[in-house]
Amino acid sequence: MAYEIRTFGDPVLKTKAAAITEIDGKIARLIDEMFDTLYSSDSGIGLAAPQIGVQKQIFVWEVDDEEMVIINPEIVESSGELLFDEGCLSLPGLYAEILRPKDVLMRGLDIDGNVIELEATDLMGRLFQHEIDHLHGMLMFDRMSPDQRKEALAEYSRITSNQAPARSPRRLKLK
Ligand code: ZN
Repeated sequence: MAYEIRTFGDPVLKTKAAAITEIDGKIARLIDEMFDTLYSSDSGIGLAAPQIGVQKQIFVWEVDDEEMVIINPEIVESSGELLFDEGCLSLPGLYAEILRPKDVLMRGLDIDGNVIELEATDLMGRLFQHEIDHLHGMLMFDRMSPDQRKEALAEYSRITSNQAPARSPRRLKLK
């Protein structure tokens, strides 16, 4: 079952997710729901649990038609720098160039509870860092300079007001 993806302004996106202590049937169901939600989105390649309102440290992604999942992930090594045009399912329509390390080593648990390490660069390196930020209650805005954030917030409010034109007249009447 696909869930509604939480968007900017929802407090769950600003909350640090809890580590998963037991990988049970509930987690298996959560993973299914996260993939259903990811596939119901237009353009997403990864999804973190807080984006469907679940404060747990887990994210899923799809690469080369393969479904991947990691539990309690952390970046243990990073190097290089890359300016990359990032998007986020919780900030629909907004893209912003964000500077982050290019290469990362991520460590976490697989669905069987085994420790796994994944090396990634470019798009995948970016995805891992972006999704782990979600687990720490951080969004792209938190990775921007004050000037860039101001501009991006203005851009995002333009995008969201365009998506909901019916709301503006009603607001004006309330004035
Ligand atoms: Zn995101």
